[in-house]
Amino acid sequence: MIELPNGYCFVNHADWSKRQLGGRGSRGGPVLQKKGVTDVFFHHSVTSVSGDPALAGTRDPSDDPCKDARLIEDILASRGLLPGYSYLIHPSGVVLECAGDYIGAHTENHNSSSKGICLIGNYDIQQPTLAQLVAAARTINLMRAGGQLAGDLSKIKLMGHRDSKSTACPGANFYPIIGFIRKFAADNN
Ligand SMILES: [Zn+2]
Repeated sequence: MIELPNGYCFVNHADWSKRQLGGRGSRGGPVLQKKGVTDVFFHHSVTSVSGDPALAGTRDPSDDPCKDARLIEDILASRGLLPGYSYLIHPSGVVLECAGDYIGAHTENHNSSSKGICLIGNYDIQQPTLAQLVAAARTINLMRAGGQLAGDLSKIKLMGHRDSKSTACPGANFYPIIGFIRKFAADNN
């Protein structure tokens, strides 16, 4: 795990999965995504979250974000939806690389032109943690700095999966507060 001085915790795909980074399963090999993407779609996994819910947003010894990520990847693999999301974010704020710099499979008809960030959990029931929202903002800023996203925050569109099709994703408790992520990204330049 890479931990930056600001508390940002990042787990490389190879550190939690035996699958190939950006591997597309039956879709073939990984395909690198073009730089300067401007669209980001947020999702929720609707899977269980490890750790004590009372400690959500903190580093709980019972947290195992890697186990949660493997469960999600196994489900996506069984549905032929690898490489899945670009990144996953656990309620503790730990960020896990999935498709990363490669084209993901998260938002139909938008995969090659967008990044997909998924909060682990069910946000029709749970509330996103502050740690998740801040981690999402830092992930966006790292992608802006690295060129994967456009550098100018005003050019970047932050959307929910439901903005692209009829779905409850990313959950009734998360969708209305996506705007906070932009605010945090602007504050953390
Ligand atoms: Zn979704």
